[in-house]
Amino acid sequence: MRRLFSSANPSFLGRSLSSSASESNLIRATLFPGDGIGPEIAESVKEIFRVADVPIEWEEHFVGTDIDPRTQSFLTSESLESVRRNKVGLKGPMATPIGKGHRSLNLTLRKELNLYANVRPCYSLPGYKTKYDNVDLITIRENTEGEYSGLEHQVVKGVVESLKIITRQASLRVAEYAFYYAKTHGRERVSAIHKANIMQKTDGLFLKCCREVAEKYPEIKYEEVVIDNCCMMLVKNPALFDVLVMPNLYGDIISDLCAGLIGGLGLTPSCNIGEGGIALAEAVHGSAPDIAGKNLANPTALLLSAVTMLRHLDLHGKADRIQDAVLKTIAEGKYRTGDLGGNSTTTDFTKAICDHL
Ligand code: NAD
Repeated sequence: MRRLFSSANPSFLGRSLSSSASESNLIRATLFPGDGIGPEIAESVKEIFRVADVPIEWEEHFVGTDIDPRTQSFLTSESLESVRRNKVGLKGPMATPIGKGHRSLNLTLRKELNLYANVRPCYSLPGYKTKYDNVDLITIRENTEGEYSGLEHQVVKGVVESLKIITRQASLRVAEYAFYYAKTHGRERVSAIHKANIMQKTDGLFLKCCREVAEKYPEIKYEEVVIDNCCMMLVKNPALFDVLVMPNLYGDIISDLCAGLIGGLGLTPSCNIGEGGIALAEAVHGSAPDIAGKNLANPTALLLSAVTMLRHLDLHGKADRIQDAVLKTIAEGKYRTGDLGGNSTTTDFTKAICDHL
């Protein structure tokens, strides 16, 4: 199996942030614990980083459904500034009310920080059996526009309108990132996922941009797959795909489907790539209100997200050590959280990982 995060792929994200980062210098990174299970799994990451002696100094900011006690606001300019200044960060899940209330904090963060590409690796974990043992996919999601532009309004009573925005600039940018990623990570194929047969103008423009970029990378195979067919193919045979690039909403849905192929949302990391070298890592999953505060959450997804952050900083030694400890703990099977069929608490699972470091 290709080791997605191994040092064989020198920089997970393809762009090293800082040449000065070394295993001994202390590096400041922003941490948003988020809400729901966020604070519990963020504690787990902090503990594992502490035991692994990772040279990261966390700058914690509270953004979520709880008001920041210092500033009395959900998302403060101080929080945004922290990411802009540190350029790296880890974000826990942030809950959004359904059908009413405040705008998604995730959307606000992505827009404000121009986090244009969301990279979501998904691979079968050795020793954890699911229907497939050969999943090895990278979903790259356009992160700033599409159906998630936040442009919704009521036209007249009983009729609402939602605008899907696709721009040439954002499409070229994410397509460029997908091909660059494929090239620098030994990947062979990029599939553009779309519904341009129906969304002719919007998805049509997205595809046009992907084709344009594909021409610059003749060594990478390029194909276009309609999203509904893509879902069917993924479920039947995930090995048909390699790197998938797509507009925002499709990426949100497809990456959860991919998580289902390898054992669920507790396992899948991601990293948001922004202009100016910003990397804000976060798990794919949400705040899991059904298990929040119960010490039941699986911290793996957030932890592997934190590992992507370490790779971005070229801290491959620490990244390998933590990643190996997580995979070993899951493969052994003695300590697993409920989502993986075990009965360990978050705390016990965290301790088991620390014991493997
Ligand atoms: P969810 O991802 O929070 O939960 C879906 C299911 O997966 C639940 O059964 C949950 O218990 C389980 N699950 C998720 N993460 C887990 C983990 N680490 N360990 C064990 N089980 C886990 O999705 P949802 O319920 O649709 O959303 C809840 C809230 O999260 C909503 O407010 C939504 O807007 C928000 N959300 C935020 C993000 C983000 O911050 N990036 C992403 C998705 C959803």
